Amino acid sequence: MKCYLCERKLEKGEIYYGDSGTIYEDKPLCESCYYEDGPAAVIYFGKDNDPYTISSTRNETDGIFRVKWIRTDPWRGYYTVESDEYSLVNTAELLAYHQGEEMLAEFDKMIRELFDEYGIDYARVFCRSSNVFFQNYEIFVKKDQVPLSYLLIMKAKKEVDYDNPKWYKEIIFDEKTLETLGKLFPERRIETDYDAVELVEKCYDDILRRLSEYKERD
Ligand SMILES: [Zn+2]
Repeated sequence: MKCYLCERKLEKGEIYYGDSGTIYEDKPLCESCYYEDGPAAVIYFGKDNDPYTISSTRNETDGIFRVKWIRTDPWRGYYTVESDEYSLVNTAELLAYHQGEEMLAEFDKMIRELFDEYGIDYARVFCRSSNVFFQNYEIFVKKDQVPLSYLLIMKAKKEVDYDNPKWYKEIIFDEKTLETLGKLFPERRIETDYDAVELVEKCYDDILRRLSEYKERD
């Protein structure tokens, strides 16, 4: 038998199998391939400050969460998780080196206090993406607690001004670039850096074409 990842021949007694709920579930692996892969998702259950990680081969949540790779094109994508016990109630993109970080930290603190106060059983999930600027921060709650959780999330969001576009600007693009992209693509409603990154990734050629047309007009 060979290791599914590195194809090294496996001796009897040194065969590892990918944990359930991982990308390589039940696939035969060598010891180093089983242990060396980095985390795809890190999960914190309620007040417990210990991280539970899921890599593509190991699952420390005992299958409560399963990880999936969502491919957006042949080279890019992101991880997400699913669960039979918990439902997703909020997703935020965490942006590196960003003024919105403070707001999100405030939101995180507030929502945990509210959840504790109302006895919500929750898990916070941080998932990796192929884009170095973004990491997903997802909040899950026990399935029967979804309606109340939504109300509490809305309350916390209002308190920290969560939906204000100002938090999601000037990370990658400056204000002027956003403005130009907004003029070139009025139909896309470019308000935040996240909108702009998405546009650049999807419509690279189209941007160059519209940009040269735009310049000719001036
Ligand atoms: Zn291997």
